[in-house]
Amino acid sequence: MNALPPLPQSRSLWRDTAGPAPDAQPLRGDTQADIAIVGGGYTGLSTARALAALGVDVIVLEANRIGWGASGRNGGVVSGKFRLGFAEMARRWDIGTARRMHDIGNEAIANIAALLSHYGIEADWRESGSLRCAHSLATLDSLRAECAWLRDSLGDHAVSMLDADGMRAETGSGDFLGGLLNEHGGVIHPLKFVRGLTAGLRRDGVRIHDESPVTAIERTRDGLRLLTPQGQVSAGQAVLATNGYSDLTPATDPVRRRVVPFRSAMIATQPLTGTPGEGLLSQGRSYTETRRMMRWFRKSGNRLLYGGRGAFGKTDSASAFAALEQAMRKQFPQLDGIQVTHRWSGLVAMTMDSLPHMGRLDDRMVYAMGYNGTGVALASYMGRHVAALATGQPTDAGLIGTLPLNPVPFYPAREVGVRLVAGWYQFLDAIGK
Ligand SMILES: Cc1cc2nc3c(=O)[nH]c(=O)nc-3n(C[C@H](O)[C@H](O)[C@H](O)COP(=O)(O)OP(=O)(O)OC[C@H]3O[C@@H](n4cnc5c(N)ncnc54)[C@H](O)[C@@H]3O)c2cc1C
Repeated sequence: MNALPPLPQSRSLWRDTAGPAPDAQPLRGDTQADIAIVGGGYTGLSTARALAALGVDVIVLEANRIGWGASGRNGGVVSGKFRLGFAEMARRWDIGTARRMHDIGNEAIANIAALLSHYGIEADWRESGSLRCAHSLATLDSLRAECAWLRDSLGDHAVSMLDADGMRAETGSGDFLGGLLNEHGGVIHPLKFVRGLTAGLRRDGVRIHDESPVTAIERTRDGLRLLTPQGQVSAGQAVLATNGYSDLTPATDPVRRRVVPFRSAMIATQPLTGTPGEGLLSQGRSYTETRRMMRWFRKSGNRLLYGGRGAFGKTDSASAFAALEQAMRKQFPQLDGIQVTHRWSGLVAMTMDSLPHMGRLDDRMVYAMGYNGTGVALASYMGRHVAALATGQPTDAGLIGTLPLNPVPFYPAREVGVRLVAGWYQFLDAIGK
């Protein structure tokens, strides 16, 4: 058996291009807040922003540096879609539900632009839309049906179809039989965005502490006590915004078993200026394949970024990165001889019903999580709904706010389950189903 190549050192393009990290601001000593938020990604920060706007005294506690979780590692694809399609929502519930979820997606995209402009954040935002790329006749048919349904049933005229020639002209790859273009959404630098949001909130006086893992949440006579290594917070309520990283400490045990962490990996090439790859992905959108084991790609700083499933288990593996690189080079032969300079990964939180959730665990604790790999826009927008829930005001977050997020059955066997499902999906992809 051939030995695997040595594990390439994990190195994120975003970290290399975001500029110097702001100094850490760990919590030191004892303090109080109306509401304490556990997790300083887009969900925690957007919730802090919305609570502060309601006049609530709020504090954010992040275990690592800001942007350490998925919010600083993701692909930066800003989209209003959910893993569960809108037509499927209409079939399972009703057209009104699908319409509300579609509106939420569009509100979430608009919210990104509003946040960038409000805080003056420079995060390489391009409102360039997205293209779903059909790899088989069956998926091309289903994209056509989806496009017609979105236009006819939801009046969404931002979507249209491209034929195979159009796909080749735009992507530079001959692999695709057609594609579904959505002019809504775009691409962003995720780490610049989460750091910019943090800086803006801090300027407005919101307390955000990083390097402050909440190690325990204790009940007190009149609320909660959140313990961190160097301090503690007495709070009336807590919001758990820990998503795919809900197993860092036992403090978030109540939500840990409600999501299945799934490793998503990315690679980035050297800058393509002056190489045969320079003209690839000419419109600068985000591109996703229709395969179940989806791969996706985009440009940033004239590099090509390519993402897909990462290693199973807790750490990166050389073979997962090698598989991505192989797929990228097959899809884009123009990259022959081009170096891959960055490889990194992170955890997305999958849910059993493929939808994000927010809800109340008890009288003191609220959660929001489970974006199923599409949380850049949504998690940055969810805060207004989470804040309303925490403060007892009515809010309409569609299915996100109404469906229960139950513990995953057979949770200890989740890794085996993820492997089995992934293997089956790969088989179906390979035979073009
Ligand atoms: C590789 C990758 C690519 C992705 N690509 C895309 C994409 O292109 N488009 C898209 O829409 N979505 C994408 N996603 C998903 C998206 O990044 C997430 O949905 C989103 O960032 C979720 O934000 P969050 O704030 O809920 O979670 P996170 O950003 O993961 O934040 C959770 C935070 O909680 C902290 N935490 C955990 N436990 C504790 C504790 N006890 N005390 C204090 N803090 C704690 C963690 O340190 C972490 O920083 C991707 C995800 C990954 C991993």
